[in-house]
Amino acid sequence: MKVEITDVFLRDGLQDEPVIVSTAHKLEIAEALIGAGVKRIEAASFVNPRRVPQMGDAAEVIGSLRAVPDVTYTCLALNGKGVERAVAAGATDISVVTSASQAHSNANAGQAIDDALASLAVAVSGYPEIRFFAGISTAFTCPFEGNIDPDYLLRVVRAFKDMGISDIGFADTVGTTPTDQVLASMQHVREAEPDLTYYLHLHNAHGQALATASAAVETGVVRFDSALGGFGGCPFAPGAHGNIATEELVRHLHEAGHQTGIDEDRLAEAVRLARDVVTHSPATGLLDPAR
Ligand code: MG
Repeated sequence: MKVEITDVFLRDGLQDEPVIVSTAHKLEIAEALIGAGVKRIEAASFVNPRRVPQMGDAAEVIGSLRAVPDVTYTCLALNGKGVERAVAAGATDISVVTSASQAHSNANAGQAIDDALASLAVAVSGYPEIRFFAGISTAFTCPFEGNIDPDYLLRVVRAFKDMGISDIGFADTVGTTPTDQVLASMQHVREAEPDLTYYLHLHNAHGQALATASAAVETGVVRFDSALGGFGGCPFAPGAHGNIATEELVRHLHEAGHQTGIDEDRLAEAVRLARDVVTHSPATGLLDPAR
């Protein structure tokens, strides 16, 4: 199977590290990912820089990335204002994100799910030239609310479908959802909405994310988010673990006979660079980063 990987180190990976990585270093890491054959790179999120200072240079990053044939840079927005800022910075592919948990939506986006969806619907309809896709945080489990009812997840999926969005990602934001539960919730949604494309954004609390990804590939899921070095987390989801590591996911997929188009040796170089940059970047200056 051909599997598509979006590396989210520059966004999800860095948003939970207590350091400010320079724009130049972010661009260098993007080049390393491209050199390894990664075709989709999530490079920034347009969130409040006072809450997430690591993303304070989002516009500069999106405006400075080198155009490369077949490489897509994506970014993330949680509300209409974020979409506006992303478009103004020159973004072409924007992930609009909401939570499937009311409590996480309040903590992460500062508003209720329906308000976030309404704000995003207005923004999405205003930019027909942009390729929008959607991410749903805490799609299966929430640190505040526990298990998410798959019917509620479906309701959020349908809200995005009504915006004309057909690419939808499910995030296991904290990374504790058992494989069976991920598959069951996805199955529930896919049966109800079979014409949409679904992808997975897995965090990895108990080392279960690889097993979940492997099982999901067998059910036809061929797009995954992952982050160099397994960095990542959500500043507004207590206990959130790192993302599934891109290098582990790629190795695992290759061993299982799937194709990613990614060179494992070059990817290892990118991991080294990412670790080095995080180690040597200055602290955010926040004593208690955004928590
Ligand atoms: Mg995440």
